Amino acid sequence: MPEIAVRMTKRNHNAFVHLLGALESQGFDLGELLITKDFNEILRAKPKVVLYSFFTEEIWGSLRDEIRLLKERGALLVAGGYHAIAMPKHTLNVLGFDIAVIGEGEEVLYQLLTTLKKTGYRITKELANITGLAFYLNGDFVFTGFAKVENFWRFPPYPESVRLISPIEITRGCPFGCYYCQTPYIKGFRMRHRPIDQIVKYSKRMKDMRYITPNAFAYGSPGAILKLDKLEALLKALQPLRKEGRRLFYGTFPSEVRPEFVLPETLELLIDYADNRRLAIGAQSGDDAMLKAMHRLHRVEHVQRAVEYMLEYGFEPVVDFIVGLPNETRESQRKSIELMKWIMAKGGKVRAHYFMPLPGTPWSRCRPSPLSDEMKKFLGRMAAKGKIEGSWGKQIELSRRLQRLIEEFYEEPMAYHGRVREVC
Ligand code: SF4
Repeated sequence: MPEIAVRMTKRNHNAFVHLLGALESQGFDLGELLITKDFNEILRAKPKVVLYSFFTEEIWGSLRDEIRLLKERGALLVAGGYHAIAMPKHTLNVLGFDIAVIGEGEEVLYQLLTTLKKTGYRITKELANITGLAFYLNGDFVFTGFAKVENFWRFPPYPESVRLISPIEITRGCPFGCYYCQTPYIKGFRMRHRPIDQIVKYSKRMKDMRYITPNAFAYGSPGAILKLDKLEALLKALQPLRKEGRRLFYGTFPSEVRPEFVLPETLELLIDYADNRRLAIGAQSGDDAMLKAMHRLHRVEHVQRAVEYMLEYGFEPVVDFIVGLPNETRESQRKSIELMKWIMAKGGKVRAHYFMPLPGTPWSRCRPSPLSDEMKKFLGRMAAKGKIEGSWGKQIELSRRLQRLIEEFYEEPMAYHGRVREVC
């Protein structure tokens, strides 16, 4: 029976596929792992170690029951992912994990598993030599530093010995630092890109080629500027795969593009080289003052220009908004409604989300604003007509839970660049 289990879920699938590729490429035999989305299979196998990866929003689901059942059976539980990084003490003390992985996981996970195998799957002082862990040793909290993997493309996105694929992470890090977003604080502010030949090599395994990146049009760029030649080189290199029958989806699920990168030249590339005729952008607010307050670094006019270009070039715009932003006034909400109406009247789609104060972000201690009656009615009416998608309704309750969690268990988050600036 395998002694180590990987608790895959729908939400951590992509992350674990990449991590398994990294583990294997460093010489770890994946045959030693039980990799499954079936929790009962893990229970039956009675592994010594179980690997988890999850977001804060998931801690109120079945996770706690799973932890309890595994602890009763004496398993050592390892948590990675955004929650463990932003709230390691909560992960250990409250959720009950034994080890939190802090930072980019490719190397630390390999070192952790090989060390645990040697030390009988126990927490020992040897773990203190591995950068990227938090745990308790003899009652003392030990944090060994934030794990960084500068050249993440040293590791393949997929393993060879198990048949698992996912959209490929082609870019890591984001320079924009939006105050509600965890990405730059966990992956860094500098964009790093997987080389084209590697993307092509592994894209051959996908039928529909899809990619993970914070801003698909920024491929090849340090982040804030467009590098059209690099973007074109990537898209061109994927064309032989399209000719073999694969479809290329770029700038749409599971990634998106920033509005100011939507230009005739980027859209022309998609027309020539990609199959999607939908493009997702984040507008977030219809009020320039709110965009400034959340450090979005673009204005409403960039969103309008992007939508107009998309329509001109035959793309369906899918535009994300966040409602209930900290210090958002009724007037700000009215401006968002106006922009949503304008987008829908032009033929675009709107997705509405309620503000969630995520740990590890500058806005983690900010309070959401209540929705004005006008906003509630508008969203309700549009949703009933099928014109607005998004789960803002469910997110209101989730947002409250996040606020309570942070009020009760606030801890300074571990972050890629040291301290996360607190805005509230
Ligand atoms: S929301 Fe997008 S652009 Fe802003 S910091 Fe996050 S990944 Fe970057």
